[in-house]
Amino acid sequence: MEKNREELNEIIRLLREKYPDGDKCSLTFKSPVQLLVSTILSAQCTDVRVNKVTPSLFARFPDAASLALADVSEIEELIHSCGLYRSKAANIKKCAEMIVERFDGTVPDNIDDLTKLPGTGRKTANLVIGEWFGRPAYVIDTHVKRIWHLIGITDSETPESIERDLRLLIPPEDPEASDALALSHLLITHGRNTCKAGRPDCAVCCIKEHCDHFEKKHAKRDG
Ligand code: SF4
Repeated sequence: MEKNREELNEIIRLLREKYPDGDKCSLTFKSPVQLLVSTILSAQCTDVRVNKVTPSLFARFPDAASLALADVSEIEELIHSCGLYRSKAANIKKCAEMIVERFDGTVPDNIDDLTKLPGTGRKTANLVIGEWFGRPAYVIDTHVKRIWHLIGITDSETPESIERDLRLLIPPEDPEASDALALSHLLITHGRNTCKAGRPDCAVCCIKEHCDHFEKKHAKRDG
C-alpha cells in the first residue's frame, strides 16, 4: 500500500500518543561537539549508558580544543563502560583535532563537511543538523530502515536512497519538515520497544493498521 503525507501524519500521531517523549533525542549535550561525541559513544551502546558517562568526560574535556589535546588513554578510561572504547576514544580525539585544525574549532553546519569528520557518517551528520542547527534532517539508522521496510514506505537499501524517499514525503521546504527528525526518533523508540528486530510484537503495535507487513501476515492467515 502506497503511503502519502496524510497517512504518515497519522503514523506520527499514533507513535506520539504511544511514546509521548519518544520524538526527541535522548542524549544529553550542551554543544554540537558534545552531541557529536555522545553520538560516537552511542554506537552499540544505550543512550542511558552514554548519558552516565558524558558528565565526567565533558567536565574534564568540555570542548573540541581540550579533546584535541587530550591524552587518548584518559578518554579511554572515562568512556570505558560504553564498549568499543579504544576505537571510540581514537575517533573522538581525531574528530576534535579535525574540528580545531580544519574548521577553526567550530563544528561544521553542513552534511558534506560533517561526514569528513572521523567516526561521523550520514546518520550522525543529520542528527547534528537537526538537533543542533534546527534544520530539516533525515536520520536513518537500522531501526528506522527496518521499520520503513516493514511498513512499506520504502524498499530502498542505502541510507542515501532511503533519505531521498523520505525527502519526497516530507520535503525540507514543508512547514512541518521537523516531523522527519521527530519520526526518526519515534521509529527508533518503536524499534526498541515493539517492532524489535526479528521479533516484532505486531499484536500490540499502535501502527499495525498502517503496516504492509501486518496486512500481508493477516491476508496469509485469513486466505
Ligand atoms: S505491525 Fe509489526 S511489523 Fe508492522 S510496525 Fe508494527 S510491530 Fe512492526
